[in-house]
Amino acid sequence: MYCLNFITLTVMWIAEKPNTTEVVSQLKTAMTYKKGKLKYLLTDDDIQVVQEFYKDYDYFNGQWHPQLRCGHLKTGFLDAMKNTYKEVQNGGRLASLRGSLLLGAEFCPFCGVGDPKTLDHYLPISVFQIFSIYPNNLVPICNTCNNIKRASGENVDERFVHFYFDLLPDNFHFFDVTIKLIGSSLQFEFFIRNGKELDNDIYKKLVFQIDKLELNSRLRKYITKYLNALGPSIQTVYESSGKVGVEKLLTSTANNIKKHDGINHWTYAVIFGLSKHQQFCDGGFYDPLALDRLVQITQPDKLV
Ligand SMILES: [Zn+2]
Repeated sequence: MYCLNFITLTVMWIAEKPNTTEVVSQLKTAMTYKKGKLKYLLTDDDIQVVQEFYKDYDYFNGQWHPQLRCGHLKTGFLDAMKNTYKEVQNGGRLASLRGSLLLGAEFCPFCGVGDPKTLDHYLPISVFQIFSIYPNNLVPICNTCNNIKRASGENVDERFVHFYFDLLPDNFHFFDVTIKLIGSSLQFEFFIRNGKELDNDIYKKLVFQIDKLELNSRLRKYITKYLNALGPSIQTVYESSGKVGVEKLLTSTANNIKKHDGINHWTYAVIFGLSKHQQFCDGGFYDPLALDRLVQITQPDKLV
């Protein structure tokens, strides 16, 4: 048996919300130096204000809303809130919070391939200082996505999916790919399928996201690597069972991905798409996967 699905528990698009039961103590810790000196004197009223904002954040599902703007609060307080994030960075007093948030995703939820080594503020702290260390606003993503991603703005057409709050259907295949086999080259073009199962706002976010993060060009090398690993199995099956065997192999692989990573993981789109690609399944895979035809079956000359 071949074994392809090395990636398990991969998270793409969304995940469980982090633990937010410790937010007050995290806030107090972040406002205090290691030896106990206060960076900023937080009053009970300040703490209550922060908690109210956190509550509103959850209420509005982390989406930009006038009620989440905090610009009217005291400048000193907002500066102190913004600075708390330093403690969430490596070596900071809340480094363990950072560690647990990063563990929330095995792979970057935006691209599905990068190592989530950094935290992104879903609502940017340049505007929403009050959510500087709010776990629900801190999304683990990879450095590449973080560098490309512009802070989520106010334009509804330019927002990213919220890792913790957006509800994506797990039974509707929205992350799809068009596959073309031209000469010896396989071309993949990911796109978002629209459907009644997909909320229109989410659809727009997904379309924006794959374009903004340049997923089509970035995933190319991963597809190549993935298919190269699968190539010998495809070849073996084809040489013993023909096109039907390849279709079966790819279908069962796709089902396996579906079980572990969901139907909207990029590998599912690729493998499922290839299982339906007649030309690919019928020997068209040799050249794009750089496989040598091991056995040249030559028809004996008609000598009778
Ligand atoms: Zn990424």
